[in-house]
Amino acid sequence: MIANGLLLLLFIAAGVAIGVFVTQRARAKRLPSASLSEHYFAGLQFVLNEEPDKALEVFLRMVEVDNDTVETHLALGSLYRRRGETDRAIRVHENIMARQSLNEEHREHAMFALGEDYFRAGLFDRAEQMFQRLTERAGRRTAALRYLLRIYEQQSDWAQAIATYRRLQPLASPEHPTAIAHYLCELAEQARKKDDREAALDLLRKVRAEQRNFARSALIRADLALDAQNPELAGRLCQRAVELHPQLLPVVLQRFAPRVPSEGGAFLAQSVRPLVRSDPAVRAMYAYSGLIAGMEHDPFVMQCLPDFVRDDPNLGDLVRSLAGDVNELSPEQVRALATALAHILKRGQRYRCVECGLATAAHFWQCPGCRSWDVLAPLMRVELAPVTRKSTQIRS
Ligand SMILES: [Zn+2]
Repeated sequence: MIANGLLLLLFIAAGVAIGVFVTQRARAKRLPSASLSEHYFAGLQFVLNEEPDKALEVFLRMVEVDNDTVETHLALGSLYRRRGETDRAIRVHENIMARQSLNEEHREHAMFALGEDYFRAGLFDRAEQMFQRLTERAGRRTAALRYLLRIYEQQSDWAQAIATYRRLQPLASPEHPTAIAHYLCELAEQARKKDDREAALDLLRKVRAEQRNFARSALIRADLALDAQNPELAGRLCQRAVELHPQLLPVVLQRFAPRVPSEGGAFLAQSVRPLVRSDPAVRAMYAYSGLIAGMEHDPFVMQCLPDFVRDDPNLGDLVRSLAGDVNELSPEQVRALATALAHILKRGQRYRCVECGLATAAHFWQCPGCRSWDVLAPLMRVELAPVTRKSTQIRS
């Protein structure tokens, strides 16, 4: 077994280090090194018997943590974490933290490592506590604040995320400059759900102070405008969002088409369609967006469908081989094609992260894989291979 083999190697390496250490100690304190080597062989025995927890116990008993041996303990702990054995990493790092005699640098290192263990184990409360303590120390403040930001994002604690972002701002340039605008948008969406229109508008004003021309903010304003029976304003806001970021077209259609089903056509005709005009790439995007927004039988979506089919090399070949020129399809054939494609797209992935390549069925403002913001773009492709898992990694 590979796992035990590695652990065994580790023990041998540790044994060498301990050997040097024990000799020095025995010389100084006249300790019988024989009893320590008995522990060492007892530890080895547990490893050979595939009892890694007992082996770890022996190791922790045998090698006292002090400033001379702490590096070995820290290395062992981080090895366990890298292997995904977070419970063992936690035991090693807690064992280090329990010692009073450590110097400040080692204590900070152990605290940080323990915080990382808790984070990896999903013990966010404990991780938060550890990183909060570290923000009071200069050495690892920036790294601890970055971890806190990840914890608050993971827990959707947007108020804390905003406070942490503001503490981080003077120390380091932000990893994701639009993150704070998104945190405020998250709070604005929550306020809107609670029918607190004033609070939502106030939060969106704060977004504007952080980021001008922020598309997500325009979409929330459009929602608020529709709540207030003002479809003209909502239309203008949608238009603005798509002008700024054409890849948001599917998000706009998915978000607003179901809200205004009866007048949806008119609402979108006034706002988004003028942008589509005659550019074949944008027409292809409009058709794709319509297919995933459940608007496959909308006349304008069907009108744009040939541009999408031509854009997709596999689909283009397939349709040509069955029906000849894509432009020559009859209205019935276009309708049947739209139904089939919408059906396939419902089962597959529709967006892909431009940073890490993760493909997802739904749109997220923050990538669930790499945690970057504003990185999901429409896949613009019909995956004909069966999708076996809900979230498949597609790499370009
Ligand atoms: Zn990603």
